Amino acid sequence: MASKTTPMMTQYLALKEEAGEALLFYRMGDFFELFFDDAKVAASILDIALTSRGEHGGEPVPMCGVPVHSAEGYLARLIKSGCRVAIAEQTETPDQAKERAKREGTPSSKALVSRDIVRFVTAGTLTEEALLDPRAANRLVAAAPLRDAVGIASCDISTGRMELEECATDALEAALARLGASEVVVPEDWPGDTPGKPDDAIERARTTFRSEDGEARLKSIHGLATLDGLGEFTRPMLAAAGGLIAYLEHTGRGELPFLLPPVARATGMRLAMDGATRASLEILEAQSGGRAGSLFSVVDRCSSGAGSRQLAEDLAAPLADQTAITARLASVAFFHTDPILRADVRALLRSVPDIGRALGRVVAGRGSPRDIGQIRDGLGEARRLKAVIEAASDVPQLLADNAHSLGGHGALTDHLDRALVAAPPTERNQGGYIAEGYDHALDALRETSGNARRAIAALEAQYREQTDINALKIKHNKVLGYFIEVPAKHGDGLMAPDSGFTHRQTMAGAVRFNSVHLHEEATRIAEAGSHALAAEEAHFEELTGLVCEARKAIAATAAALARIDVSAALAERAAEGDWCKPAVVDAAVLEITGGRHPVVEDALERTGERFVANDCELTSQDRLWLIGGPNMGGKSTFLRQNALIMLLAQAGSFVPATSATIGLADRLFSRVGASDNLARGRSTFMVEMVETAAILSQATPRSFVILDEVGRGTSTYDGMSLAWAIVEAIHGTVQCRCLFATHYHELSRLSDTCEALSLHHVRAREWKGDLVLLHELARGAAGRSYGIDVARLAGVPAPVLKRAKTILQRLEKGREETGGLAAGLGELPLFAAQETQDTPSQNELLRERLEALDVDALSPRDALEILYQLKREAAETKS
Ligand code: ADP
Repeated sequence: MASKTTPMMTQYLALKEEAGEALLFYRMGDFFELFFDDAKVAASILDIALTSRGEHGGEPVPMCGVPVHSAEGYLARLIKSGCRVAIAEQTETPDQAKERAKREGTPSSKALVSRDIVRFVTAGTLTEEALLDPRAANRLVAAAPLRDAVGIASCDISTGRMELEECATDALEAALARLGASEVVVPEDWPGDTPGKPDDAIERARTTFRSEDGEARLKSIHGLATLDGLGEFTRPMLAAAGGLIAYLEHTGRGELPFLLPPVARATGMRLAMDGATRASLEILEAQSGGRAGSLFSVVDRCSSGAGSRQLAEDLAAPLADQTAITARLASVAFFHTDPILRADVRALLRSVPDIGRALGRVVAGRGSPRDIGQIRDGLGEARRLKAVIEAASDVPQLLADNAHSLGGHGALTDHLDRALVAAPPTERNQGGYIAEGYDHALDALRETSGNARRAIAALEAQYREQTDINALKIKHNKVLGYFIEVPAKHGDGLMAPDSGFTHRQTMAGAVRFNSVHLHEEATRIAEAGSHALAAEEAHFEELTGLVCEARKAIAATAAALARIDVSAALAERAAEGDWCKPAVVDAAVLEITGGRHPVVEDALERTGERFVANDCELTSQDRLWLIGGPNMGGKSTFLRQNALIMLLAQAGSFVPATSATIGLADRLFSRVGASDNLARGRSTFMVEMVETAAILSQATPRSFVILDEVGRGTSTYDGMSLAWAIVEAIHGTVQCRCLFATHYHELSRLSDTCEALSLHHVRAREWKGDLVLLHELARGAAGRSYGIDVARLAGVPAPVLKRAKTILQRLEKGREETGGLAAGLGELPLFAAQETQDTPSQNELLRERLEALDVDALSPRDALEILYQLKREAAETKS
């Protein structure tokens, strides 16, 4: 390439300009090539060779490439790493380019194949089976701020589901956390940092986020004169829908994927949880990342990917509506009481293909014969499932409604049964998917090529006999088509002009010929083949049309299958783990007997240990439990198990307990003290406080809050004061149900002044000098904190432990004399300014510091650190 810009480079640069920040996959023959920075980025992510090609502006052009036939895998890795990719395909063949060049009067040697971007592949707009996780939804979200609110449009184009909602600006992060978006689209004038993870948000022109456009597009897509029949959509919702549709159109280059009519998500119908709560409860993902160890992983017993996706959605957004929860629970209970029916239904569901996603591909114009086959098979299985459920008695309403949605496809499935072979291929360009008997003309064409193939086989035998060459073979390849091949030594014999054979090619060990008869038969095969292909292609279009016409009903069947799968799977899980059906009531109570933490219980079971069940009983008279006890005693586990039980119940699931009465909550908050998180370098004390502030401003008397060691991210004085004040505020102002785990013994004094607060502790016992953690909750304040005993369990060396014990005894003696750290807390206000005394002596200072220490409240590590500090200071004052 010369240093001046070549036509190809000009074309490339124009396409790259169009691709914007997306990596440009530039099709060159059998490869997609990437150039310049795109090449560097892709080569490092994909770990493939970075080479160079020609020069541009005097510099070599970096290049890398991936073969077209295996591009999907590479695409998947790029998308996973947060890239977007623009696919530039050749839009004409080299021959067509030459023709065009001739017409335009340019030399054909200079003819450049024209190329165009046919699609943008982005995380939120995938439909390919290979690129999607069958058990997880893949959501694209658009957010549009409008005055004080934000409209949110979300869709999963792999299934066509679309939802619109509106929230307050400060609730956006919580909504995005719930939706778990793969990609977020926002207008370019987004105020402040774009929402979601930094790589996720893409900015688009403000003009694409107009509510009028959004409304007009939704009406035209769904052929409606008004959207009123679908629900109530606000201006911000419609603006977001406008932005979402414009982005989908952009990525699909004008083609819109399959979209179902939007559903308006009413606020207040769901249990609200913010991002911090989701993360700390490890609902869909464990804090270590990944699904293992999450609530979802131990609950999911779904038979199908679609069921798992629905369950994940249910757990991410539990309900706050008693009627809807009761309806879901009734479906689960129905399957729970009938194990035989449950097994039948689950077995049927296991063989149902993912028709929701197959439909998404077909409607988006990316469907394969296999996709249509899957829809046929899935609808057939759905009909069988319908019969099984409807044959049962006392089917609850929700399940009956779902069963009803499984049917009504008889005409379509009959048609597809006749039209398609049993197992249609994923590739449509080879044909072979239309069944025999569907189209007589097609059958005749196949017959013709079958006859010709047989004729060729007969020719081979005939020629062998005629020439006396046993090694003679009739073969086929892509370049030559059919030909006769004999070993080289027999070649000359067939060269004679009257032999009936015409020479085509001489190879190293063989010579190849043609014959008039062979040519005739080969032509018959080729013609019949191409006509047959064209006929199959036409049928494919027709079948795609039929499926598209029925798309709403098929999508409804897919949704019903998923919901039934979830009900049966939850019943299975309940039976497996001895879970109970919760009573969901409209009162601020939480009464759980024999409650267990499903994830911890599962982990313990694997090691053969037993989980100790515990009760929780929050009522309006006793709504705040303060829980103390040794580290590792089971406080966090207890807090979380109750939050998870509430979450499961409101998602419509049975719960791991012997009995449970769950007062419907509007919001659920879970917070963990900062030091628990410090190891991951994520949370700081500041974050802990910001998150706690959110509870104090957002929680209502209907909320449920769990606070785990909040306040320990700072010094003892600060932390305890904050914890104290937070408990008071929750008790007196917020008045919600709350479980508060703390190691500050001093807080137990709060029970004197807060009448709806009670004290509890996790029990521990010393046995033969060893500490035994019983993981059992009991009423009353914790006796002692067993910090040193826990340190022993953790392997702190004996001399250090011995020394720590001596210090502890001294400190405890000191505390008895002075009343301890919280001595003054009985007489609030707490923080009256202290008058300074005369300058105290070193000894007095030391004594004051020691008195101020609450050794029970210290972690072994802190205790050790203080010892070191004291030794350092002693050495310094001596010198
Ligand atoms: P804490 O918050 O009091 O430090 P955790 O709740 O983190 O304690 O529990 C520590 C460990 O104890 C858990 O990882 C678990 O293995 C075990 N554990 C907690 N609760 C129970 C229980 N109820 N039954 C059995 N083991 C438990």
